[in-house]
Order: sequence, then structure tokens, then C-alpha cells
Amino acid sequence: MFQGFEFNAKALMAEIKSRGWIRIAIQAPAGLLRDAAQLSLYLRERGYEPAVLVDPCFGACDLAETPESYDGVVHLGHAPFPNQEEAMFLELPSKAENLEILEKSDALPSRLGLVATVQHLSLIPIAKSMLEDCGHEVHVGDAGGRIAHPGQVLGCNTKAARAVADKVDAFIFIGSGRFHPGGVAMATGKKVYAIDPYTGKMEMLDSDRFLRIRHGLIEKAREGKRFGVLVSSKAGQNRTEKAREIELALREDGREAILFIGDNLPPTPFIGMELDVLVSTACPRIALDDWQNYPVPVLTPIEVRIMLGLEKWEDYTLDELA
Ligand code: SF4
Repeated sequence: MFQGFEFNAKALMAEIKSRGWIRIAIQAPAGLLRDAAQLSLYLRERGYEPAVLVDPCFGACDLAETPESYDGVVHLGHAPFPNQEEAMFLELPSKAENLEILEKSDALPSRLGLVATVQHLSLIPIAKSMLEDCGHEVHVGDAGGRIAHPGQVLGCNTKAARAVADKVDAFIFIGSGRFHPGGVAMATGKKVYAIDPYTGKMEMLDSDRFLRIRHGLIEKAREGKRFGVLVSSKAGQNRTEKAREIELALREDGREAILFIGDNLPPTPFIGMELDVLVSTACPRIALDDWQNYPVPVLTPIEVRIMLGLEKWEDYTLDELA
């Protein structure tokens, strides 16, 4: 039924039945809305009354409230978050499984950590045994907090990598894009070999390039007079106290600081607002991945503290949410 994903229909139907839901709201990130529509048809054919939620959704931190007159929300494509038992999470493991490159893993360091994004977690045991067959020592970090599965990494949390960083020489990341493996490299200081299971290609990333960019943004922000501090109204991203601390630190340094609270905090409202710098306490991806879309430099909380001389550059850490 789904394009490129596995779907455990039996488990989903059993869970819906046990909860006694009839009117079901389906939430999905933009890339899975087509699948959400498919699921809606599937449920309708079985006598349920589904509807697809179309507001933007970026993670399990962003769980929709059950709409009026609905029984509950089925959230597609993300792993469960702590304290969100009221929703039903339907992970959609990808069918992409090209790990052939690991058959020639002799050139990789001997001790490796393994991490993946949620849709590719089923490849971790496969990659582990391939690497062990080639003589590697392999470590997978535990779940905990907002990390639901061993080895899982989020854009805002690399705990599963940090937990094994001192036992490994490098990491293997399974997934697509450079943001997550770049985060693992920055958080651990280790090289990350990122394998895209769709193409089967592998790319090595280290933290140098990312840190150079972050250093450049901090330097650019130093001249800033008026700062906007972004605060998310989403429960899973809200760091109001941190934002207030930053506001105070900026004011004590003789700068102006304005707090902006919003659900998604996109770039558009900040165009033409005569701000010099933004500091994001919301989803770390805003500062670390989307910063080029904003009209001014976007810093993370620790970066603004480095800029103000309250932390040393040598103590730089990746912005993460617990
Ligand atoms: S805070 Fe950002 S990276 Fe973390 S789960 Fe939410 S959307 Fe994803």
C-alpha cells in the first residue's frame, strides 16, 4: 500500500481496535502525506472515519492534538516520544536496503559505532553482522529519553552515538542526507561513514566543515546589535527558560533582544524586520540545517554564549534536546 515503506497492517488494526477508535486523524510529515492519504482510504474501506491533517509536521516532537470530535491521532513515520502515549505511532521502515558496500569494509577503522534514522533502523542488525563478519568490533548505543530505539539518531539528539563514542574509532550512519551524520560527527568528534541505502553509496564526513561554518556565523554575529530569540510553542521543542537566559545575557552585554514565539518559526516573518542575528532555542535544525534560508545568521544557544565570551570555542557542543 505504501510507496517504498513496510507497513504492519495487522498490528495497526489490532491497536486501533483495542483503543476503540472510529474517527481517526492521521498526521504525517510532508514527505509522507501521500501515504497518509492511502492509509485514510485503507481505514475508510474497513468502516472507520479517518481524516488527514495537513498542517506542517516535522517530527514526533510536533504531535497534533486530537481534533474536536475525533478519537485520536495516528502519527506516521516517526518513533514514539516520551509522554505521548495518547497517540498511536506508525513507523514506516523503508524498503531501501542497499548495504553492499559493507562487503568491502576492510578499509574502515576496526572499531565502529552504528547509527541510523528511524526508517532505516531495521538495517542496523544486518550491517552489524556484515561488519562483524569482516572482523570489525561494532557498538550500538542504547535508547532512552526521546530516542525510542537502540542506534536511532534524531536531528536534535545523538545520544545513541555519544553513548558509545569512547569505544569506537568512527561511526557508520545509515540514512540519507548530510544533516544527521554531520550532527553525529559534531557531537562525537569522530569520522562518520554515511551510507545511503537507496543508492548504496558511502560518503565520509567529519566535523571540520560543519565547525568552520558555525565559527564563521559566530564571528559574523559579533557585530550584531539587535537579536531575535526564537522560542517554539511546540511542547517537544519549547525552551522558554533557555530563551530568557539568552535574552538576559544579551541585554547585559549591551545588545537588544526580542523573543519571538511561534509554532514553526519559518524565515518569512523575519525578512525586513531589521534584526541582525537570530538565536534559535526551537528545533536545532533551524540553526544548524536551515540557517541559509533566514535573512540573518542563526545561532544555537551555546553559539551565542561563545559569541558573548561566556563559553570557550574549545567547549563547543552540538545543540541537542534531552
Ligand atoms: S526537535 Fe526537530 S529534530 Fe527533534 S524531533 Fe523535533 S523536528 Fe525532529
